[in-house]
Amino acid sequence: MSAIPENTHGLIAAEPVRDSHQTTCCVVGGGPGGMMLALLLARQRVPVTLLEQHKDFDRDFRGDTVHPSTLELLDQIGLVESLHKLQHAKIYGPTIRLANGSFSPVDFRRLKTKFPYIFVVPQVRFLDFLAAEASKFPDFRLVMGANVEQLIEEDGRVRGVRYLGADGMHEVRAALTVGADGRFSKVRRLAGFEPIHTSAPMDIMWFRLPHVPGDLPGAEGRVLGGVGIGKLLVVFDRVDYWQVAFVFPKGQYQQVRAAGLEAFRRSIAEIEPSFAEHVKTITDWHQCTLLSVESSRCPRWYKPGLTLIGDAAHLLSPVGGVGINYAIQDAVVATNLLTEPLKTGRLEVADLAKLQHEREWPIQVIQAVQAVAQNRVLATVLRSQTALKMPWYVRAFFATPVIRDIPARVLAFGVTRVRLQEANSL
Ligand SMILES: Cc1cc2nc3c(=O)[nH]c(=O)nc-3n(C[C@H](O)[C@H](O)[C@H](O)COP(=O)(O)OP(=O)(O)OC[C@H]3O[C@@H](n4cnc5c(N)ncnc54)[C@H](O)[C@@H]3O)c2cc1C
Repeated sequence: MSAIPENTHGLIAAEPVRDSHQTTCCVVGGGPGGMMLALLLARQRVPVTLLEQHKDFDRDFRGDTVHPSTLELLDQIGLVESLHKLQHAKIYGPTIRLANGSFSPVDFRRLKTKFPYIFVVPQVRFLDFLAAEASKFPDFRLVMGANVEQLIEEDGRVRGVRYLGADGMHEVRAALTVGADGRFSKVRRLAGFEPIHTSAPMDIMWFRLPHVPGDLPGAEGRVLGGVGIGKLLVVFDRVDYWQVAFVFPKGQYQQVRAAGLEAFRRSIAEIEPSFAEHVKTITDWHQCTLLSVESSRCPRWYKPGLTLIGDAAHLLSPVGGVGINYAIQDAVVATNLLTEPLKTGRLEVADLAKLQHEREWPIQVIQAVQAVAQNRVLATVLRSQTALKMPWYVRAFFATPVIRDIPARVLAFGVTRVRLQEANSL
């Protein structure tokens, strides 16, 4: 056992370090971004250790959407068929219901891809699936219940991390440390990166309603959006239940709570009258999870020996449900750029700068698009005191042949289509 040296960042634990493990890449966080990166590197014989603070991957309402770009990636590495054996639903596009009828602005079925749908699977099943596939490679090591608390920094370079496991403190030394530890990233804080936050005009309450076969006819394969006065409902068909997002103006959470559960149930049924019976199953606020909507981006998310990916580097708003997609795209680009330097032991800070450079502009573009959708469209909807109607020119805009497939393409593939380089897909 070694004592903890002074040049570590983070909490100085009283406990000594029990053991030290050497690897090439240490990934902190087993969400979609970190798990995919670990899998892709292990396939390329890059020794990788993935540290995940929880003992399992089961977290409610973390986003369960696998987009066409991720399905294409899994096809590239031969996993898409086995993924489809998991119980799943498919979403072909949203339908928005307003006072003057329904409107379907996006239809994935028109996309030129083998997978013209969003594949919906509980995130825990998806992550279990990726972890099982990664475990087939001898260079993959997964440590669950590993809470990273310190960065090891020596000679101006990050050399790994220290984590608290059930039996005490351990260290992992690596040529590259990747902070894939999500929106509240500890690695980001320890590395001294300060994200710039942009606030959104709304917050979301997530909850489940029971699925009664035959209710909401026509909802299969759709995300339904219903608009009430000053609030919105987004409904996903999850095969055996409805996943519902109640969207309301930012800062009104206490008001919603203070009005009581009965008023909450009434608000839901006002927007979606066919849920009048379903809402009676909401009997406790604990059944609802609040998502405080914001977005952020670190001006710089790398330093010698360390980079961030996914939500840790850039938090996207839930508009379009693309956070998982972008975290996985970060992992793909990181694999394309860093596999060779990691294998040859020639990783330079310039490689990490290139990764940020390649990923930064698609992130900036999607954040700008989300900001327009939030501040121009959603904010108007949430401020409205009357039942909203869809203007004819918006319908006409989304029906124009050249334009109508752009939103679907952006949602399905992101601003730019990211593919695994041939050498990394073998
Ligand atoms: C309520 C909600 C609904 C969402 N819905 C959608 C959706 O429908 N579609 C979509 O695309 N996106 C959705 N998102 C966003 C999506 O979940 C994220 O964008 C995506 O999960 C980011 O992936 P990630 O790998 O970067 O981070 P995360 O998925 O956040 O994973 C980070 C991991 O790091 C671990 N970790 C944290 N700290 C430490 C530490 N110190 N040591 C070790 N491990 C640590 C965490 O336990 C976690 O497993 C939703 C988010 C929320 C909150």
